[in-house]
Amino acid sequence: MSRDPPNPSSPPRGGSPARQPLGPLDTLRCPSCLLLLWEPVTVSCGHSFCKPCLGGAVPSRCPLCQERLKLLGVEAARCNVVLCGLLEKCVERESRLAWLVTRVRDRLGRGDAREALRMAQKGVELAPDSSSLRLCRAEAFAALGQHPQALEDLDAVCRAEPGQHEGFFRKGKVLLEMGQRAEALLAWEHCLTLSPHFHPARREMEKILMQKDAPQPRTAAARQGDAHRGSTGPQADGGSPALPSSSAQAQDQEGEPVDGRGDAGSEHGQGTATLSEPGRRQEPETSAERQDQWLVDNEEETAAAKCTQLCLGELLSISDLECSLCIRMFFEPVTTPCGHTFCKECLERCLDHRPNCPLCKQSLREYLKAGSYSPTVLLQDIMLATFPAQLAERRELHRAEMAELSNLTKNIPIFVCTMSFPGIACPLHVFEPRYRLMIRRCQETGTRRFGMCIYENGKSFADYGCMLEIRQIELLPDGRSLVDTIGRRRFRVLSRGHRDGYNTADIEYLEDKKVAGEELQELQCLHESTYRLAQRFCEHGDLASRHIFMQHGPLPEKEEDIQASADGPTWCWWLISILPLDPSYQLNLFSTTSLRARLTQLQRILAALLQQPPARHPLPERSPRGRV
Ligand SMILES: [Zn+2]
Ligand SMILES: [Zn+2]
Ligand SMILES: [Zn+2]
Ligand SMILES: [Zn+2]
Repeated sequence: MSRDPPNPSSPPRGGSPARQPLGPLDTLRCPSCLLLLWEPVTVSCGHSFCKPCLGGAVPSRCPLCQERLKLLGVEAARCNVVLCGLLEKCVERESRLAWLVTRVRDRLGRGDAREALRMAQKGVELAPDSSSLRLCRAEAFAALGQHPQALEDLDAVCRAEPGQHEGFFRKGKVLLEMGQRAEALLAWEHCLTLSPHFHPARREMEKILMQKDAPQPRTAAARQGDAHRGSTGPQADGGSPALPSSSAQAQDQEGEPVDGRGDAGSEHGQGTATLSEPGRRQEPETSAERQDQWLVDNEEETAAAKCTQLCLGELLSISDLECSLCIRMFFEPVTTPCGHTFCKECLERCLDHRPNCPLCKQSLREYLKAGSYSPTVLLQDIMLATFPAQLAERRELHRAEMAELSNLTKNIPIFVCTMSFPGIACPLHVFEPRYRLMIRRCQETGTRRFGMCIYENGKSFADYGCMLEIRQIELLPDGRSLVDTIGRRRFRVLSRGHRDGYNTADIEYLEDKKVAGEELQELQCLHESTYRLAQRFCEHGDLASRHIFMQHGPLPEKEEDIQASADGPTWCWWLISILPLDPSYQLNLFSTTSLRARLTQLQRILAALLQQPPARHPLPERSPRGRV
């Protein structure tokens, strides 16, 4: 959105080096109406809007970034609890309304009555009991020539606040606009009864009464003999009504802005210094119109000014931006459709266990299914504006955690499940919360690798395993996932550990011993003959085993340099993975670092199997592993 709201109190934009600290009004703004947020709702892209600005329900696209939104409707439009709290803490309701009033007046001052009306309209919807906003709306209506509507609002104000002169004064002005001079006089007369020193009303009355065909207010006769009668007010030609008098003190204030309610005068300067247009204060305030402007502005502007003068950092404490799960400052805060906010990782870990909000227990099945945990942009902005040092610290902590998790020899995550082999695909079905976390971390760190070991009694997992690399993940709507991995290097476990419920290990990678010269020639011969045997075995297989070959692909090609890989030729591992071998025997073949020993063993097994009729060696079924 390119619209830049004209806000005299906001710091200059465009990278000025001496940036003022951000106040609530700069930060807690709705990108749609550009006003202070009201009942903020955070949608799935991470942007926050006033609930009324979204029309009460989440629309199909974000009004700001145009991203297609995932969770729609009224159900998803719950207010963001943390943002509501921040708003309440930073800006009191009165100030929020006052701020709105200021904005409406600003628009009116710029002659943009339509926008003023729209804003006032919204204000009245939000706070139907606010007389200030109703007065604003009446002003906007009047500016647009919609006098009956203006009158309706003013009547409501006069009814709600019968002791306040403001409504009556404005009512008089609207009535005058409508040509109802007698009624206008009546309204002003009432205004002066409530506030005898209110000059603008007096002046308006004078203007009319000075006219030749001045009407006679209906109550004028009844006022004969009134204590105020004719003492200082100018008299029109005989028989004209008298004006209530004003005191000498009020006379002294001639030319000064008149504070209609008389209780915010002391903070006058404060209000104007920050919120009025530059130079406005210096202009001589001579016209009654100018004074009108000042009637209600003062105390409201002052209230609004008060909250802009404090920066967010002074209003908030770290605990306002704390995740209820880890009790630390939010890191990548995400907001659920129920309006609760958590660190992305904290929430994901909760959802690994059950698809409900950790705070209010509302079902987050749909949220989980949508799978988009976009950070709540506004909260990130606020954290950056208020606690940059702590945020940097939090980021550094996360970076260090990630670096630790990225280490591929120390504390590597171990998935205890099945035998896997270098170069051989290993499809997994991941559903246990601890493994969901593990896989997510592998993704986040970018290593996309973890160790795979089989279970071994008394040790929690075997001494040898294979690093698996994630090739693809299919996330299922309920949070489970189908993970396609491929075996990389073999390793030996040096020591065992735990992290967040899953096993870890310090490891060293295995490497086949290399041979040369005559030994290599012998090895190559052995390799050739074993490969031929493997080919015969594959041809020899019955229908069932053919089916398995189709599933696993054909016997891999021979490799040019049999010692090129630290783990030896892949076809050996392919064979070991499909042969009907006992896991402990597989592990034996797996852990040897002598290619010669591996080939010799394979030759023996193949020879034995080839002597049996095909049906005697059923091959293992291949399906996604992982404990279901
Ligand atoms: Zn809004
Ligand atoms: Zn958006
Ligand atoms: Zn957290
Ligand atoms: Zn919740």
